Amino acid sequence: MISNILIVDDEPTALKLLKDILSTEGFRVRPFNNGELALRSVEAEIPELILLDIRMPGMDGFEVCRRLKGSEKLKDIPVIFISAAVDLEDKVKAFQTGGIDYIVKPFQREEVIARVRTHVALNQSLRELKSVAESLRKSEASLKMAQAIAHLGHWEWDAQAGHFYWSEEACRIFGLEPQTCPATHESFLQAIHPDDRERVACCLGRLSDQDWCEMEYRIVLPNGEIRVIHGKGQAVNLGGDRQPKILGTVQPLSQHDQITMVGVIQDITERKKLEWQLEQQANIDFLTGCACRRHFLEHAGQEISRLRRYGGELSMLMLDLDHFKTINDQYGHAVGDLALKKLVEVCLMLLREVDMIGRLGGEEFAIMLPETDSQRALEIAQRLCLAVEAVEIPVPSQTALRFTTSIGVASLAASDTCIESLLNRADQALYQAKHEGRNRVCAEKR
Ligand code: GH3
Ligand code: MG
Ligand code: MG
Repeated sequence: MISNILIVDDEPTALKLLKDILSTEGFRVRPFNNGELALRSVEAEIPELILLDIRMPGMDGFEVCRRLKGSEKLKDIPVIFISAAVDLEDKVKAFQTGGIDYIVKPFQREEVIARVRTHVALNQSLRELKSVAESLRKSEASLKMAQAIAHLGHWEWDAQAGHFYWSEEACRIFGLEPQTCPATHESFLQAIHPDDRERVACCLGRLSDQDWCEMEYRIVLPNGEIRVIHGKGQAVNLGGDRQPKILGTVQPLSQHDQITMVGVIQDITERKKLEWQLEQQANIDFLTGCACRRHFLEHAGQEISRLRRYGGELSMLMLDLDHFKTINDQYGHAVGDLALKKLVEVCLMLLREVDMIGRLGGEEFAIMLPETDSQRALEIAQRLCLAVEAVEIPVPSQTALRFTTSIGVASLAASDTCIESLLNRADQALYQAKHEGRNRVCAEKR
């Protein structure tokens, strides 16, 4: 690129000489014999360098330079002063006013060329550096914004130097002030929930000899709040050329290698809450709020596996509302629904927290009673039966609805390997209760 240079000198011979020297060297030169004109031209087209005479009639070189430096748009143009003056005071003032260099008349051709070339090159490098810094600043700003929007933070851990870097968003996720984020790997681990800390430490510790690791863990914020994090980490070899390379497991390490662990973290608490809510909703019977069939059977199955391994007792009640079809026919479906809700309500009032009630379908329910033998289960069933019998549901312009339930009771036997056999026996006992006239409890036949 041809550099564009402005020369200001009131002395025609000096002006011509400088113009000739620089034009021959390939520069595009704009000569001016006074300061005012030169300033106006600079405004119109910014030169890469200005050669500026000090002593001129009207506005002298120092004043021209002061005006340039006072303008935000023009202050970065490098100015080289030229003057016949040899006194030190002028030279000092030239630098104080913002000059970058000084050339004394009469000119030495080689000196002029060397100084001009040096300052043009310097100025070009400076401009490139500024533009790189500016685009870096811009991309850093957009990266920060993107990370903040995605709640995505990142960290870098130089295990050898013992330095741990947190990005601004990482600090924010951990509830820390970016300026006060402690720069150690221990402080990162300290913020992790005690139950998850060992798992995370182990994963980080293994990073340098594995490709990457990914996990979910909880962190505890300074205010005690617990958040869920999804984290992914990777070992990176910065090497001698500072170009990051992802480490393979068996890549040999040389003395130039510099291993740094890098990772991203994302706060997924809200997503987890939503997942949990959805899971809860999927497990619950919409009408009565007790466990749905699938969830009850799954849970009861797990409980039986646990008992078969560690021992213990378990009983199962099977409940069915009596003559429910008649209730629906007489009072309508909505009142029938109320009866189902009330039944669950009464059961929940009488049962312990460890007991579980599930709606197996229609007006049929099962109740799992952990750590309960057959005798105790029978007593509980009888109490439930009485409590249901006592329920009254007021119905406008009709007599209040009263209903009863029949209950079958069975308890876990050594031969029960799954939930089905136990449920079957409770169901047979229920059938027996219906057969014997309803509103009663029957235990399985042993
Ligand atoms: P039993 O004493 O022998 O158990 O007689 P029942 O009438 O209770 O038994 P049956 O199996 O003949 O009828 C069950 C009725 O339960 C029929 C069905 O319409 C009703 N039902 C099933 N699910 C619901 C429900 O969600 N809401 C209402 N209101 N009724 C339901
Ligand atoms: Mg019924
Ligand atoms: Mg039925």
